[in-house]
Amino acid sequence: MSHNAIAEKRFQDAAQYYWVLATESLSLVTKMGSKASKDDKKYLKSFEEYSKLAEIYQAYNLINKYIEESYRQVINSPLYYESVFNASRFLVNNLGHRAPQGINKVYIYQTLATLGYKFEAYKTARLGYEVLSSMKVPDHMMEEIEVEALKIRSKPFQDKDGFAFNCNRCMNIQPLVNQKGDFCVNCGAPVVRNFGSFDTLPLVEFVPEGNIPIAKAIELLK
Ligand SMILES: [Zn+2]
Repeated sequence: MSHNAIAEKRFQDAAQYYWVLATESLSLVTKMGSKASKDDKKYLKSFEEYSKLAEIYQAYNLINKYIEESYRQVINSPLYYESVFNASRFLVNNLGHRAPQGINKVYIYQTLATLGYKFEAYKTARLGYEVLSSMKVPDHMMEEIEVEALKIRSKPFQDKDGFAFNCNRCMNIQPLVNQKGDFCVNCGAPVVRNFGSFDTLPLVEFVPEGNIPIAKAIELLK
């Protein structure tokens, strides 16, 4: 079913199918940690990969709509463009070596570049144009990309403030994209996001010491 949805460019549906697969895999896990069996580990791994794919298709849905449907249309709120820009940053960080079916990397880097330019995040936009120059870009997009890549040469080398965020664990400022993965470049803490606007959330995961009862841990947090 997910393959049909992808073929028909129903990426939101594809995300939903992968999410169902992820929850099904998780329901098959009986034990975690050191007590996990070989099967448990396999299902846990499937859960992680399927949920990552669900997130990827959810983000790509925004990119595909931006490039194929609303690109060049004037009536769209700044929040909409911010979400699309965030989604392109999320995809650059999360795709890694994956090449999921139906996902066009030209669209992702084109979005990163044009919206980076729009938001004066010139360093990030430059990265977008740089990667695009090494890709096979469809003819109808080529001229526009070349003109924009020229225009950006007169712009500063930095990203304007506004999109940079601090890691919630070590408080270091983060670059707008991290091609190595979706984690803090300083301490490695994973970035937690809202999957509507792909904005970062002020959350940090931690596990209380084993000798602290749950009730006491909750009390300490207050
Ligand atoms: Zn950090």
